[in-house]
Amino acid sequence: MGFLTQVWAKAAAATDPAPADAAVPDEKPVPDTKPDAEQPKTERKEWGYDLYPERRGETFKPKWSRILFGMEGQENIDRYKCEQNVYWCVKNGPLVKLMMGALRSSGCPMDLRRHISCEVCDPSVTGGYDPVLNQIVVCQNMAKNKSMVHGVLTHEMIHMFDYCNNDLDFRNVDHLACTEIRAANLAHCSFLSAMMQGDASPFNVKEAHQNCVKSKALASVLAVRNVTHEQAVAAVERVFPKCYADLEPIGRRIRRNSMDQQKAFMEAPLYGYDVY
Ligand SMILES: [Zn+2]
Repeated sequence: MGFLTQVWAKAAAATDPAPADAAVPDEKPVPDTKPDAEQPKTERKEWGYDLYPERRGETFKPKWSRILFGMEGQENIDRYKCEQNVYWCVKNGPLVKLMMGALRSSGCPMDLRRHISCEVCDPSVTGGYDPVLNQIVVCQNMAKNKSMVHGVLTHEMIHMFDYCNNDLDFRNVDHLACTEIRAANLAHCSFLSAMMQGDASPFNVKEAHQNCVKSKALASVLAVRNVTHEQAVAAVERVFPKCYADLEPIGRRIRRNSMDQQKAFMEAPLYGYDVY
């Protein structure tokens, strides 16, 4: 699992020693119909499982020392706020609504309760897509406002869309690079999400946009696969021309000061997407 939206901030909490009970290896295999589900612990780490402790059936337990300083102990409040933000995005977020329509029309309708889960994650990620359970994880401890949740949902829904429509093999690094390029292209590096995430910069320069997509996709591949930097760069470069040009299902890159967002909506039915 794990198509992660990497947070650019430093993972400060990573220096914290793990509590003793978390160190006990969880031998329960991750639900998987494939025979290779019982991978050794180290291999699972390569797949990013350790970034989502709640996926392994561990309930997040705050450390009392961190509760004292107000750093932890807010999990239920965080979950409630996260679920409210998810609900807001589903009702009001333009790209989330468009993606939901595209998924519905592709025969993979998304149900809020079944397919989206707010969880406590490793501080290095803001979200993820779990292809085994076909579920989007929103990291309630990292994606704390509507625009961040909107960005996470759009990004992960593109992985969900690719999983539904394309014959994706998530273990193939080229396939992973492709879906990460598409997510960066259509979500992260589009002007709309840059604006919502508060880091809008003139992406109207074609080369700057391509570089944004390449570096974001590269970071995502490196975050979820234990491959070398060179291997990840090679995979991104191999599939870039094809995957960058594939604008399905949004149909266009959202540009600054343009009607792109409205156009994407208006055009959705032309592609057979059932948007409302
Ligand atoms: Zn991703």
